[in-house]
Amino acid sequence: LAFRRAATPIDASKAGDNEPCVLITLNDVTRVETLVQSISYLEKHDALTGLPNRTAFINDLAQAIANPNRAEPELAVVMFELVGFTRIEHTLGSEIGDRLIREAARRLAMQTVPGDLLGNWNRVEFAIVIPCTTERQSVVGRINAMLAAFAAPFWIDERELKISALAGVAWFPSEGEDADTLVRKAAVALRGTRRARSAAIGMYTEQEDWWGKGNLELQIELGHAIERNELVLHYQPQVDVTGGRVVGVEALIRWQHPRLGLLGPDRIIPVAEASDLIVATGEWVAHTAARQLAAWRRSQFPLLTMSINVSNRQLLRSDVAALAKRIMAESGIGPGELIFELTESMLMHDPEQCAKTIATIRRAGIGVSIDDFGTGYSSLAHLQKLTVDQIKIDQSFVQLLPGNHGSSAIVQAVLVMARALGIPTVAEGVENHAQLAWLREHHCDKTQGYLYGRPVAADAIPELIETIQNRIFVG
Ligand code: C2E
Ligand code: MG
Ligand code: MG
Repeated sequence: LAFRRAATPIDASKAGDNEPCVLITLNDVTRVETLVQSISYLEKHDALTGLPNRTAFINDLAQAIANPNRAEPELAVVMFELVGFTRIEHTLGSEIGDRLIREAARRLAMQTVPGDLLGNWNRVEFAIVIPCTTERQSVVGRINAMLAAFAAPFWIDERELKISALAGVAWFPSEGEDADTLVRKAAVALRGTRRARSAAIGMYTEQEDWWGKGNLELQIELGHAIERNELVLHYQPQVDVTGGRVVGVEALIRWQHPRLGLLGPDRIIPVAEASDLIVATGEWVAHTAARQLAAWRRSQFPLLTMSINVSNRQLLRSDVAALAKRIMAESGIGPGELIFELTESMLMHDPEQCAKTIATIRRAGIGVSIDDFGTGYSSLAHLQKLTVDQIKIDQSFVQLLPGNHGSSAIVQAVLVMARALGIPTVAEGVENHAQLAWLREHHCDKTQGYLYGRPVAADAIPELIETIQNRIFVG
């Protein structure tokens, strides 16, 4: 029982004369207290899983950070996301969804040890704090074990359901000293894991955080980068399959970011394409690459072609044929030595306009190559109507050679067709000798890939080419 003093004061005048009295009022507030307790429980817990909710988790984390008696110097703040859950819930309904989440929470909880904090962040996301020493590898091992807990199927209503999980990690104190910052950074890390699709665990990086800024902010930064000369081109050799000679290079854009280091085109091109910056970026790339080829020519450097990537948006928003004429006039480079790489997906957009643009670029003396061929679902009939100088087979097919039957069949069909049409072929993304051997056997003309070397800065190209030409690529 719980007791409380009566709220109303006792009126002593009502008592008889000289009669001392003690009036005790008892209020049974047990039910109220129980209610208060359950409201307080509900305030702090997720109703479905019974785990601490977002607010409580943040409080628990703040307490763990502030705890002067904490034995471990570091904390790993981990965000988990259930993958494949939404599809199941949409198909089977929210009741099955609820049971699946409860079971997932139970599996995660089984993996925790005393001292860990586990919370439900939102319906499909869980957060965990793992106290640790500076030896982070063991924590990564534990997170892997948590992810592996999802490997076995879930059985609900005699249905076999499969989901998996992804994780993002931020570390206290190196990445933040307060709870809000740490959970935000763990969420950034999770977004990076989701985006990269290469591993199930990802660590927080400043680059990923930067990438999460609004497009407008990134565009302003990229605009400055062009003005401040922070863009650079790296070059990757293309090798003739039969003779093993380097016949050209492809120019690939990079951004030497003052704080974040070297950023790749996956960070640059989408930002540029979201605004007119793609036009200025594309102009800069074409001029810089052409100037570089001219400089190599002057130093008697034997290199036949320079390939330059042109984005679809650049093609739609600017006069690429006029750009072709301008750089030919400026650089003094001969016809066919510069090649514009247009992606196959562009052919689908507006085939007639595309054919006209290709013809004008070629008339200006610049070759046209169709990049990422095989990914754009263009029909072979399209290709027959266009006059192009080269087809580049997409690396997603090349990398599965020679073992994957589907990829081998597609690449073989493209090679046979290109040969019949008299169009030279390049295979990109060649990483090993088995792939090279297969391509040689199937009469691909040129190859490009990590087997020969990664893209490098202009001043490293002469040495890379010499190394390639001194090596014998058996295949
Ligand atoms: P892409 O034109 O198909 O270029 C090939 C990409 O594959 C390059 O990535 C290259 O580094 C990478 N690569 C080359 N060999 C291998 C290999 O053996 N294995 C693997 N896994 N990858 C290999 P990068 O430099 O990150 O460029 C990615 C894409 O960004 C390019 O694909 C191109 O579409 C675009 N890009 C690059 N530079 C520019 C540019 O200056 N302008 C435009 N519009 N797009 C560009
Ligand atoms: Mg390319
Ligand atoms: Mg490509």
